[in-house]
Amino acid sequence: MADLSVITPIEYLKGVGPQKADVLKKELQIFTIGNLLEHYPFRYVDRTKFHKLREIHPDMVGAQILGRLTALQEVGEKRARRLVGQFRDDTGSIELVWFQSITWLQKSLKVGAAYICYGKPTEFNGQVSITHPEMELYTAQEKKIGNLTMQPVYSSTEKLKKFNLDSKGIQKLQQAALEIVFRGLQETMPGYLLEKHRLMSYPQALLAIHFPQQVDDLNAAIRRLKFEELFFIQLRLLRNKQLNTQKYRGHRFDQVGEKFNTFFNERLPFPLTNAQKRVVKEIRLDTNTGAQMNRLVQGDVGSGKTVVALMAMLLAIDNGYQACMMAPTEILAQQHYAGLSSLLGDDLCSIKLLTGSTPAKERRRIHQDLEDGSLDILIGTHALIEDKVKFKNIGFVVIDEQHRFGVEQRAKLWRKNSIPPHMLVMTATPIPRTLAMTMYGDLDISVIDELPAGRKPIKTVHFFENQRLRVFGFMRDEIAKGRQVYVVYPLIKESEKLDLIFLEAGLENLQREFPLPTYKISIVHGKMPVRDKDFEMQRFVKGETQIMVATTVIEVGVNVPNASVMIIENSERFGLSQLHQLRGRVGRGAEQSYCILMSGNKLSKEGRKRLETMVRTSDGFEIAEVDLQLRGPGDISGTQQSGIIEMKIANLASDKAILTEARASVIEIFQTDPTLSQAENNLLVSYLAQRGPNISWDKIS
Ligand code: ADP
Ligand code: MG
Repeated sequence: MADLSVITPIEYLKGVGPQKADVLKKELQIFTIGNLLEHYPFRYVDRTKFHKLREIHPDMVGAQILGRLTALQEVGEKRARRLVGQFRDDTGSIELVWFQSITWLQKSLKVGAAYICYGKPTEFNGQVSITHPEMELYTAQEKKIGNLTMQPVYSSTEKLKKFNLDSKGIQKLQQAALEIVFRGLQETMPGYLLEKHRLMSYPQALLAIHFPQQVDDLNAAIRRLKFEELFFIQLRLLRNKQLNTQKYRGHRFDQVGEKFNTFFNERLPFPLTNAQKRVVKEIRLDTNTGAQMNRLVQGDVGSGKTVVALMAMLLAIDNGYQACMMAPTEILAQQHYAGLSSLLGDDLCSIKLLTGSTPAKERRRIHQDLEDGSLDILIGTHALIEDKVKFKNIGFVVIDEQHRFGVEQRAKLWRKNSIPPHMLVMTATPIPRTLAMTMYGDLDISVIDELPAGRKPIKTVHFFENQRLRVFGFMRDEIAKGRQVYVVYPLIKESEKLDLIFLEAGLENLQREFPLPTYKISIVHGKMPVRDKDFEMQRFVKGETQIMVATTVIEVGVNVPNASVMIIENSERFGLSQLHQLRGRVGRGAEQSYCILMSGNKLSKEGRKRLETMVRTSDGFEIAEVDLQLRGPGDISGTQQSGIIEMKIANLASDKAILTEARASVIEIFQTDPTLSQAENNLLVSYLAQRGPNISWDKIS
């Protein structure tokens, strides 16, 4: 058994065997010894510190107590059935409570014995107790696995526990694994990087993370492994980008011509914000390098992304190319078309709209004009990507609200010319830098972090249910001034039926308070046929209805400048970024706008934090950052499908500093060794080839 390596299947490890191997694979995706070693502890119990029972209180996140189990008794029946233990040290006593595994615990726990008890103190009926504590017999036996001061805790599952693979059991496997492979463990990073970033060696780090002797060692090990993980993700991303640049030639836009200048000097009805100017410049530089541009523009709702896209399209036209812009819905495409046409005026260039409802005759004309090159700009929906749509010479593609499109759809646009057009993808969902660097690490990112001057900030308030009459009164006042109002209800898959009932009830209530014929109400929800939805939407857009009752379908891009009030029902149930998106539907006209967050009286800590954040700030990036802290990276929209966020040890919410350092390091490496061909970087290349993070790197554009 002496020569096993990290790629050895897990069943060959002493103490595993076929059955355990099977659950390890199923439950933790551990197939090899290497996988096992990468199943890092998620927490450590500080063995050096024991709390005295008199010190513990419900605010502690966890407490470790050395004491004696003095009694153990099953109480209650059926659902109230539980096991209650008395635990005592020399300063007092406390109740321990278990609701599960009662029979097993009764057999295994020894009354009268000394235990190390670890758990989260909670308060119940004025008494502090610990529910489901981890109990460990206090013996000197532990010394076998080194004299640990920090006891690792591994995540496990009920199934694994049945095979004795609880945290302790997993630790034993780690020991067996390390004993066998330790001497053969290879360093994964070149020595110069270890030195430069003051990183512990790989074998040392692996040993220290599983069997830490000292807190300092453990911290160094964690830092090393996080750095490694983030470093290789960045290396892979930036190498992809490098390869793309080499592979795809780009159209070179080497002149700023007449149309761009005419538009900028004579047509633009407002001065650009500095952020807009910066992004236009970034695009100009990018499209003049001879390589294909892939750029993401992030900018809050209302930050003025569209006009930036228009100027980029004019740049393309000035250089002899066509441009197109794809939006996720028909309404959005129409709005873009109307908005851009009026900004451009009649004579500057030709622009057309193509959607699913474009009549066949018009459609044929458009196809024709595209092919003979007489059409400069095409705005549209998915209809744009159909094979029938052929351009004479497309050079620039804009994708609005990019997260609404699949990879395949975007890829089709790439293929609309022999040399792929430059791609500009836009999103109004700001994401924090750490996420952006990882999710979109192979794109260039532009940020519009400034709203046009003179915008009135939206006033946001939080109201409880009992203040509803005031809200109705306020709605009446606003409608009397000629404004329109959104009322949005949550509609969540898991609770869809109930949600629809709430929506119906809410609608009835509104119909009573705002009766015909004085008031007219539109209703739009995801369960309606698209045709009806569009019809209702249009009534509201045209101002024929004053109130729009909706589920979150209105989230994306709809622009009704006359709507000045956004009421969000059960707002505590929405995620922060959704709330932010919804709020962005108002505040688009000259009038003061309002966002009213309705909620029940009972709010979770997180729910309250979300609503407080909404009331406090309207900065999308700040909101995204809070969202990331609250939910963790895995729950931020868009991250799930990317798969990038499933990391072994690093965390994008908390490891910003390490990520920034790792990315900077990778950028520097590519500056001095673009093809990674220098001998000192051999290790990096072989790492990427052999193990690298196991991720499918979807190109996003
Ligand atoms: P978004 O970034 O959400 O797509 P839009 O491009 O739709 O925002 O712009 C929102 C509104 O702001 C539009 O009516 C647009 O004409 C206007 N706008 C854009 N840039 C400026 C600016 N620099 N100054 C004033 N208004 C602007
Ligand atoms: Mg937009």
